Amino acid sequence: MAIEKFSLVLQQARRITPNVLHMAFKRADGKRLDYIPGQFITFMFEGADKVKRRSYSIASVPGQDDTIDIAISYVEGGIASEALFNMQPGEDFAAMGPAGRLVIQDDPHTKRYILVATGTGVAPYRTMLPELAKRLTERPDFSIELFLGVQYRQDLLYAQDFREFAKQHQRFRFHAYLSRETTELVDDEGKGYVQHGFESLNLQPDTDIIYLCGNPNMIDDAFALLLEKNFATKAIRREKYISSN
Ligand SMILES: Cc1cc2nc3c(=O)[nH]c(=O)nc-3n(C[C@H](O)[C@H](O)[C@H](O)COP(=O)(O)OP(=O)(O)OC[C@H]3O[C@@H](n4cnc5c(N)ncnc54)[C@H](O)[C@@H]3O)c2cc1C
Repeated sequence: MAIEKFSLVLQQARRITPNVLHMAFKRADGKRLDYIPGQFITFMFEGADKVKRRSYSIASVPGQDDTIDIAISYVEGGIASEALFNMQPGEDFAAMGPAGRLVIQDDPHTKRYILVATGTGVAPYRTMLPELAKRLTERPDFSIELFLGVQYRQDLLYAQDFREFAKQHQRFRFHAYLSRETTELVDDEGKGYVQHGFESLNLQPDTDIIYLCGNPNMIDDAFALLLEKNFATKAIRREKYISSN
């Protein structure tokens, strides 16, 4: 899929947690953006000396949303954060995409996907939901564990979508990990960092595939832990959320 340059016009934006904005865009040229669930787009911001690039995972659910959606977490003083959080419907930004390899693959011998995210790193998994549903239906021996790590319960973005999906698909389980919550935990919630969730799984290095997305520290920690558990590097798919320049 070729990377294209286009202009994205904001349709609407809404806060989905105290620190995260869900933004829905359409291409100014009216064309559809062909992407593989899990891919990202990149905005270009004119800096004092050069153009700064900031990438955002596509968060739209194919078949449900006809817009190109992202979830952006606010970073104080951040170039993209300040520009995007202040953007009004009808305004546009230069962008390019899609790109990225954190996508679902054929994986015929895989029995389980373990999808791990911190914060907005869960956006790619939301986009994958229709494909994951298809795979769960087609392969009766396939299951999915999704782990979302945030600080407080109020930061759990898209949790409703995943909980609803879990109700509809027996072999899909959602786990929320809360690192700083002080109130009593409920049902699918755990305390601590998201990678602590691995303890509750009987990890199978030969038949599990792990996806890691979001905070670079979480990804490095989880990656090291999985190598210790005998996972091959190719069984771990990663996307670190860092600014490119
Ligand atoms: C492939 C890819 C996909 C991404 N997808 C998403 C996404 O879906 N949603 C999303 O919100 N972000 C995503 N990111 C991160 C995003 O591209 C930006 O890095 C982020 O929004 C911060 O950019 P900024 O211009 O606002 O801040 P910057 O100007 O880059 O940073 C300002 C200051 O804050 C620090 N900083 C940067 N990020 C953080 C942080 N997360 N927490 C605390 N301090 C920070 C920097 O070190 C710097 O000192 C993705 C990154 C990549 C590479």
